[in-house]
Amino acid sequence: MFKPGLAINAATTRKQWSLPEAIDGYARLGVAAIAPWRDQLHATGVDAAARALRDAGLPVSGLCRGGMFPAPTAAGRTAAVEDNRRAIQEAMKIGAPVLVLVCGGLPEGSRDIAGARAMVQDGIAAILPDAEAAGVKLAIEPLHPMYAADRNCINTLDQALDICNALDPTRATALGVIFDVYHLWWDPKIAAATERATGRIHGFHISDWTVPLADMLNDRGMMGDGAIDIAGLAKGVVKAGYSGLAEVEIFSDRWWREDPETLVQTCLQRWRNLLQMV
Ligand code: ZN
Repeated sequence: MFKPGLAINAATTRKQWSLPEAIDGYARLGVAAIAPWRDQLHATGVDAAARALRDAGLPVSGLCRGGMFPAPTAAGRTAAVEDNRRAIQEAMKIGAPVLVLVCGGLPEGSRDIAGARAMVQDGIAAILPDAEAAGVKLAIEPLHPMYAADRNCINTLDQALDICNALDPTRATALGVIFDVYHLWWDPKIAAATERATGRIHGFHISDWTVPLADMLNDRGMMGDGAIDIAGLAKGVVKAGYSGLAEVEIFSDRWWREDPETLVQTCLQRWRNLLQMV
């Protein structure tokens, strides 16, 4: 079963609301948790944001994002690892249980995707002890393959699970995955992969895939408006032992023009509708 309520990723309202405004708005409208992004977090200040979250009584579902491990030079890869270590500390300070990893694409000019994937695995291996020490879970978020070159060369749930199994074969750590329906819905092997993810799912992100896509990044749809069987995927995730919150994550020029309160209320209503089918 899902935890009652709904988390909203602050990217959903990032054009309308700063982080303090989102914290205030989400708390007021009955959102169960917020997932901030580091750019908005830095603009507010980590300590000030932590205080605002405490004052509002609003839990954090996760911090976006760590990752971006591949780089053309060893110095670049070390800098990426250091930045991820800072992200882990920030997650701890704001009470985020999970750091979401968008792992990174190919280094500039490279055609070596296998090499980039190896850099991702090495990067996660380097920060795993830091995450364990901080009590922050790491979650690899596979992204749709259209982002393989520039954002994330980890593109299926199976790939993410392979990394989990390679780095943590005995499940001694809290390394896991984020299941985002927008990125995974098309995968013909998703049912088996979801079952395989049992015990490793640290988050369930929802939005919808509308046709035609006007933009690779900023045309995600509202749940129920597109092609994704969100309820079907949600059933699989629950069967795989997930008992946390669902989290809306909509990057959308269309929805960023909407009144933010209407947007948040639409998200809440659509999830209530979907839950009846889960
Ligand atoms: Zn996501």
